[in-house]
This record gives sequence, C-alpha cells and structure tokens, in this order.
Amino acid sequence: MSTHYVKIGPITIVQNNCSRWLWVLVLGVYSCMAWGQSNTRIFDLLTKLKLAQHDTARMDIYLQLADVHIEEGNSAEKAINNANLALILAQNYKDKRREFLALERLTRVHALLTYDLKAAMTFLNQAKAIDTIYTTVIDRVRIYGDEGKIFMALNDYEKAQRAFFQQLTIYEQLHDHKGIAAVNYELGQLFFEQKDYRQALAYFNKALDLYNEFNDMRGRMYALNALGQTYGQLGDYTRNLQHCTEALYLAQTLNDHLQLAEIHVNIGYAYDHLNNATEALRYYTGALLIGEELDNLRIIARAAREMGNIYRQLCREEEAFHYYAEALQAAQQVGSKSLLKDIYESLFTLYDENGQEAQAYHWLKKLVQIKDQLYDEERTRQLIHNQIRYETEKREEEVKLLRARELQNQIIIQNQRLQNYALIIFVLLVLAGVVILINALKRRKAYNELLEKEVQKRTAELQRYNEELAASNQQLEQSNAELERFAYIASHDLKSPLRNIISFLNLIERKVRQNADPQLLEYLKFATESARQMHQLILDVLEFSRVNQAELQLDEVDLNESLVLALRNLKEEMSQKNAVVESMQLPTVRANSAYMLQLFQNLISNGIKYNERRIPLVQIGVTEQADHYEFYVRDNGIGIDPQYKERVFEMFKRLHTREEYQGTGIGLALCKKIVFKLGGNIWLDSEPGRGTTFFFTIPKQNDGPSQSDAPPSEKVSEHVSMHSPT
Ligand code: ADP
Repeated sequence: MSTHYVKIGPITIVQNNCSRWLWVLVLGVYSCMAWGQSNTRIFDLLTKLKLAQHDTARMDIYLQLADVHIEEGNSAEKAINNANLALILAQNYKDKRREFLALERLTRVHALLTYDLKAAMTFLNQAKAIDTIYTTVIDRVRIYGDEGKIFMALNDYEKAQRAFFQQLTIYEQLHDHKGIAAVNYELGQLFFEQKDYRQALAYFNKALDLYNEFNDMRGRMYALNALGQTYGQLGDYTRNLQHCTEALYLAQTLNDHLQLAEIHVNIGYAYDHLNNATEALRYYTGALLIGEELDNLRIIARAAREMGNIYRQLCREEEAFHYYAEALQAAQQVGSKSLLKDIYESLFTLYDENGQEAQAYHWLKKLVQIKDQLYDEERTRQLIHNQIRYETEKREEEVKLLRARELQNQIIIQNQRLQNYALIIFVLLVLAGVVILINALKRRKAYNELLEKEVQKRTAELQRYNEELAASNQQLEQSNAELERFAYIASHDLKSPLRNIISFLNLIERKVRQNADPQLLEYLKFATESARQMHQLILDVLEFSRVNQAELQLDEVDLNESLVLALRNLKEEMSQKNAVVESMQLPTVRANSAYMLQLFQNLISNGIKYNERRIPLVQIGVTEQADHYEFYVRDNGIGIDPQYKERVFEMFKRLHTREEYQGTGIGLALCKKIVFKLGGNIWLDSEPGRGTTFFFTIPKQNDGPSQSDAPPSEKVSEHVSMHSPT
C-alpha cells in the first residue's frame, strides 16, 4: 500500500494520507468486528459439530456452515466443502430432504460466488428432481430464487422473471413478507440488468417499503443503494446521492464492508456526475481501501479506474496513470474482461489525449482484441445457454419420467403395504379363531369331564339304589314267602282242630236239641256258623298259598272241560238263583287244569252271587290275539263302582258285608295270582247296576306248544248253554 503514497501529489498526499489513515483505522475496527461476528458464528457451529452425536445433527450444521460462508461472499470453497459433506451424509442415509437442501446450497454457491453457471444449473436440476413429498414448501422456495439468478446471469430474463414470480407467489401464499421483499429486490435487479430503470425503481421501492415496515436494516441498505444506483442511471444524481448516503449510514451500522465498498463507488459516481471531483475522489478512495481490506479485486479495479478517470479529467495524468495501473493489475488478477475493456478504453483515451499515439494504438489494439473476446464470450455464453436450455428440457423430461415411475412405485408399495396389512389382519384373525377354538375345546373338554364325573356319580348312585332295591326286593320276597309259608302252615294246622270244634259243636247240638233252652240252641247255631266260616276262610287261604307254594305243572288243558267241571261244582248255587251260564267253544291252552277250574269257578260264582236279577246270566267267551287268548266272563249283576276296579283284586278286599253277601275276599286275589302265574293279565270293566265283565289273558306260548287242534274262532258258533236245574 505504501507505493500509493509515493505516487500521489503533495496536496492530495496530505488529504489522502489523512483520509487513508482514518479509513485504515475505521476499517480495522469494522473488519475486526465483522470478522469477529462471522467467526463467532462459525466457531459456534464448529463446536456444535464436534459435540454432535448424530449424523442428522451433523448434516444440519454442515448446511448452516455452508449458509454462513455463502453470506460471507468470499468463502466459496468452504461453502462448497460443507454443502458437499452434508450431501454425502444425506445420500448415505437416503435422507432426501437434506440431500435437496445440500444441492440447493451448491446451486446457490455456484450461482452467486463462483459464477459457474453450468455447475449451478446441474445442481439445480438435481435438486428439482427430488420428489416434492420429501420437502416442504419453505425448503423449495429458495430454489426458485437461485434459478432466477442463474437465468439472469445467462441473460435469459424471461425465464429468470418466471422463476422469481413463482417464488413471489409462494412467499405471498406463506405471507412471508421478508421473502416478498427479497423477491421484489431481485426483480428490481432483473429490470436494472435489462436497463428498464423505471420498472427497477418500482420493484426496489416496493422492497424498500416492505423492509421499512418490519424495520429490516440490511434489506433497507440494499434497497436504498440499489435505488440510488438506479437514479444515477436515470441521471438523477441528487437522488442517487441521497439514497446512497442513507444506505452508507446503514452499511456502517451493520459493518457490511462489501456493501460499504459498493455504496462508496455509487456515491463517488454521483459526486463525479455532480462535478464534485473532490468528494468523488474521497468516496472512490474509500471504496478502494475497503476493496484492498477485503481483497476484493473487482471493487479495487472499479474504484481505481474511476479515480483514474477523474484524475484524467483534471489533467493530472500522473495520478491517472497510477490508478489505471492499479485498476489494470486488479482486473487482470480477477480476469474480468469487461473491467479490462473499460480500463483499456480509459488508457487509450488518456494516451490519445496526450498525443502518445504509439501507446494509444497499443491500448486500442488491446481494446479491439478484448472486445472481440467479449463478443466471442457472449457467443459462447449464448451457446452454453442453449446447451443448458437443451439439457434442462431433457432433464425436465427425465424428471417427469422419474416422477411417473416413482408414483407408480409408490402405488405398488402402497398396494403391497395394503396386501401386507390384509395378510397380517388375516393371520391375526386366524390366530384369534384358533385361540377361540382351543378355548372352546378346552371348555368343552372340561365340561365333558364334569359331565362324565356327574354321570359316573349318578350311575354309582343309581347302582347303589338298584342294589338297595334288589336287596329290599329280596327281603320283601323272602318275607312274603315266609308270610305265605306261615299262612299255609297256620291254615293247614288250624284246619284239623277247627274241624274237631265243628264236629263237637254238632254233637253238642244233637245231644241237647230235645230239651234245650232255645237261646242255647241259638248260641250253638252261631258258634257252628262262625266255625264254618272260619273253616272256609282257612280253606281259601290254603288254596291261595298253595298256588305260590306248588311247582307249576303245565299241560294241554281243554278249557271246555275246565268249564264243565266248574259248572258241576257250582250246580247248587246256580239252581238256587236260577242262573244261566252261556259259553262259546273254548280253546285248549297250555296251562294248569286245576288253576283253570278254580279261575272259571271263582268268576262264574261271583257273577251269580253278586246278582239280583230274576235270572242271573253269565256269558263266557274268547278272542284270539297274535300271541295270546283274551277271555271274558260277563254277568248282568249289581256291577262294581269303577273306583274299586283295582282294589277288588287285593286280598280280603270286600265291597259288601257278610250279611249282604257271603264271602272271604280271597276269590279275586286268587284269580289274579293264577293268571299272573300263567303269564297273563286280569282286569274288569263294569257299569254299576248293569253288570260286570272280567277279562283275562293266557299266552299261547307257555313253555311249549299249547295250541288246540282247531282255532278258537271256528268254535265260537258252538255255544255251551247251562241252566241251573229248576
Ligand atoms: P268274596 O268271597 O267276597 O266273593 P271275592 O274276592 O270273590 O270275595 O270278591 C271280592 C269282592 O268283589 C266281593 O266282596 C264283591 O263285593 C265284589 N265282587 C266280586 N265279583 C263281583 C261281581 N261279579 N259282581 C259284583 N261284585 C263282585
């Protein structure tokens, strides 16, 4: 820097020396503060990076570091490194959102810092190819700004405008006023580039209004500077100065050196055109110093050339040469052809004015050369632009295809997922069914076991009852047998002394009959009668007992014979009561002849005895059934009340007194016993006052064939009629 002092004139030296030292001091403080601020953020982020436990956190820190370096404006390499680290991690983890964010940073750094538009466009397309489902609207909004800037740099103002408008729409939907202000600023720049300064003014003013609204100092600084610059281009240098001075104040407050330098150049420009060379030089010097501080060769080149121009106009060729040389050096270093072109032009003019033709020609030649180069460059740029446009369109097609395929894949995945869910639900249902089935089976088994136990218990109880019943039956049978035996023995043993009593009573009667007291004779008569009754009772009991005691002897019994014998025994009774007995032809059955005689005799006897008709009628008949004969003995006697239908067959059961009808109450009981013993059944049917019919059955098969020669039906017509002898 010391070389600058030597070449500057004495007055200016003092002036410039003072202002230089002042500037150096001010800038030193500013840069320390700015450096400090930026570095504090970077230091904080690096500390966080060291402490970060997860790669997700690391990715976010890399992205923030890339942002800080992009904002710094002169750390393109670091910004690229950090964005690349984030990109690699995101791709490793298949984290599509962070991959998109890293690609956006790479786009931005190439669009704004390295000016490698081809690379910027490649990253932009890669970012745009990532499906929108992975990113938020806020993530994506920035990419439109980057796109706008790339197209602006490629002079494709139409596409740039479209991109910015897209971004503006999203910000408006999000009600993001800061975003809206930023896009208005970018649109202002776009129209400025197109030299449509009126439109540029409108957008810059909108941006300024919005920044004023939420008091964004940085935004206001940019908008004011841009407005000043635009007014300058419109020839309104007062407003140029006014706005840029305001911006300068803000830049100083914000310690934004880059903007400070830009603003200095713009203020210098205003003063220059307001013909205030001193102020113009002062501000250009400021810009130059800041440029040197920042090592920003573009600023140095611009400021130095402007200073050279002023000195040239002041006819101070030496200073002019000095600054042109500085500008030339910086422009050559930065490799900016447009800057070089301006400087060559200035140098040519200077030499031309001084009449140094050889030198003038030298710079003119250079000027023409560089203009050609610029023209070529413009053409190349156009070519690149076309290539990019072609690639972009191709890429857009690919993206469309990729999207369609991705959509298809998503549908397939969704379907598969649905199928999986359905399968899982099905399996769960089956499992639930199996569990329910097992439970039901278990319950059923338990229930069955319980039931089985209950059945076993009941069976055991039943068996016990049966055994008890069998035992008591046996006991009963035993006691019955004993009783019957006792009855038999008793009656048998009583029979003989009773006969003696009757004989002696007869003897006594005969001896005392002639001169006996009639009352004594009456007593004797009663005694004899009672003894006879007793004798009859004993005979009946004996008969009854005998049926059970005796072994059953079965023969072929012709019942017609049994009937004839019975009637013979009943001859006296029949004649006493004028009874008539009618019978159809009876079959021969396998039975016991004595029993059959007793059976007929008892039933016919009762039919006559319990009969008050003038001519008692007893009818005997038979019907043949499949396996037995059913006999009947019907009378026209007094009948039996139906309530005694069963009980008349009980032993000693009588429905009348002995005074009414003689009897012992054993006859029907004996009949029942005989029929049962032969395997048949006995019952009665009666209508009191009109007569009684006794029915009894005898099985055809009674331990062997007992069929008579002729079937009973054929014998029905042959009636046997018996009448008592009158
Ligand atoms: P009994 O020696 O008294 O005749 P039975 O056993 O032969 O004894 O008859 C029992 C009772 O049944 C009789 O006392 C009588 O009252 C009634 N009985 C029996 N047969 C007849 C009949 N054919 N008609 C009306 N009553 C009868």
